Amino acid sequence: MMIGQELSETGRRLFRDFPILRMLWESGRKKGIRETIGLIEKAEEFNRTFAVPRALELDMRMEREPEYFDWEIMRRACRYRFLSLFIPRQLGGIAGEFMVTNTSLLMDELCSGCSGIALAVGAHSLGVAPLVTSGAMAHWDTVLKEIVEGELREQPVTMAYAITEPSAGTDVEEPEYLEKAKLSLEAKKVKGGYVLNGRKCFISDGSEAKYFTVCAALDRSRPLQTWTTFLVERDMEGFSTPRVELKMGQRASHAAELLFEEVFVPDSHVLGYEGDGMGNGILMIMAASRGPVGSIATGIARGAFQHFLAWAKTKRNGKRPIDEDRIRLALADMWGMIQENRGLYMSNAMLGDGIFSKALDNPIMNLTLGLPSSLRTMPLMRNFLNSYYGKAMINAILRYYLKDEDMTQLLETASLAKFSCADNAMELCSRALSLMGPEDSEERRWVEKCYRDAKLTQIYEGTNQLNRLVVNNIRFEETLRVEVPRPLKKGVMA
Ligand SMILES: Cc1cc2nc3c(=O)[nH]c(=O)nc-3n(C[C@H](O)[C@H](O)[C@H](O)COP(=O)(O)OP(=O)(O)OC[C@H]3O[C@@H](n4cnc5c(N)ncnc54)[C@H](O)[C@@H]3O)c2cc1C
Repeated sequence: MMIGQELSETGRRLFRDFPILRMLWESGRKKGIRETIGLIEKAEEFNRTFAVPRALELDMRMEREPEYFDWEIMRRACRYRFLSLFIPRQLGGIAGEFMVTNTSLLMDELCSGCSGIALAVGAHSLGVAPLVTSGAMAHWDTVLKEIVEGELREQPVTMAYAITEPSAGTDVEEPEYLEKAKLSLEAKKVKGGYVLNGRKCFISDGSEAKYFTVCAALDRSRPLQTWTTFLVERDMEGFSTPRVELKMGQRASHAAELLFEEVFVPDSHVLGYEGDGMGNGILMIMAASRGPVGSIATGIARGAFQHFLAWAKTKRNGKRPIDEDRIRLALADMWGMIQENRGLYMSNAMLGDGIFSKALDNPIMNLTLGLPSSLRTMPLMRNFLNSYYGKAMINAILRYYLKDEDMTQLLETASLAKFSCADNAMELCSRALSLMGPEDSEERRWVEKCYRDAKLTQIYEGTNQLNRLVVNNIRFEETLRVEVPRPLKKGVMA
């Protein structure tokens, strides 16, 4: 059978834009690629029926009322199962062999409609990621299960990822800088747990999430050595989200401040060991998530391109802009930027799937997740998984499947995709706006929104400057290496 006959229109478009997908299909990975196409069809429907019709209005409303949040975004995301992207299939989620590729393609598609709405959806998976990559199995049957069950009932339960502090943004994303960072949040060890005091800021989905993965130092004078990842729950006493930012772009999603006032977090809520935060809380997450930020920027660029193309084909004063060579040249350049971006984020995504699919789908994982959930949630089992030796066992398994050199290469490709895609998106939007001139039109309003939206992709997940330094430090100077957490680690407060 010819490829075209077996495929939907979306499948044919994807094969044309991403020849690697066609190659995988032809080499026998049809089941996985069919799922990818199905996911993108859902994203197209989400955009067509929901995101695009309300994007401009929501953008304007949130400029006037930054506190407003449209919960329908999350309910719709549930309907399409977009909240389970990073949750393993064995736990009811949809993460399979193409987890990173699917996430990247999905963000590209959603952001071509509205990246503010897409960020509200995608930032939740960023919050989920440390629960998965740290192997915090004791929470998989509670938190991840609650997310899946909520999703199936269309009652969203969401997470957020909190690392940035008022005086430390770039500094918390790289070991060399964390060493010297001026932190506000501190976690003090007390009997049975930790007490957190201080603030986090700019946290996407922070005012909506029920659960948070939070990195904090146990000793602010030794941030790198004591940086630790915690699971925090919204209803913990002393936790609040006092304010959200008035954003310039991607307004449909909130960036919130988190306030910790004597918040007690039990020992069971430390993800991995104390002091493992740079590995399991930052670098492993960035290796998986900066590529998808590149795809966010690409989707924004593609949205801008489509509106610019529509503008170029519309007659004005009897002439179509596209009949001029300077516009045709610009369109070809813009399409080139989009395809260059796709090449970058897809090479990161394919590498990520090669690495993570081994860790998610292997005999040990299948055996563990094949056990009845009632057995895994027994107090004896949970206590073991949360214990020093339980964590040692999990870290040993993680280190067996995830290698430092693979994760380091993944971080390099992720940072490269992130800054290149974001810069291309800014350049594309800026060129489109200049060519369109000052005349007011619906298309120009969209491109102006895309311009503001694209700017943020140069900032979050580490600024583009930081991501350039990461590429330099990994590739040219070999001073940065991702370390998958080790078993049997000594206490950091000794
Ligand atoms: C819309 C949005 C959503 C966000 N969502 C989240 C979230 O969900 N969770 C979260 O934890 N954080 C989030 N952030 C925070 C984001 O990750 C930080 O803003 C980012 O890391 C930059 O930190 P900063 O704002 O403190 O800037 P700074 O670190 O103060 O940097 C200011 C400028 O100095 C440059 N700079 C700093 N250090 C160096 C250096 N050593 N060399 C060269 N240049 C340098 C930077 O590149 C930048 O241009 C979000 C931010 C935005 C804007």
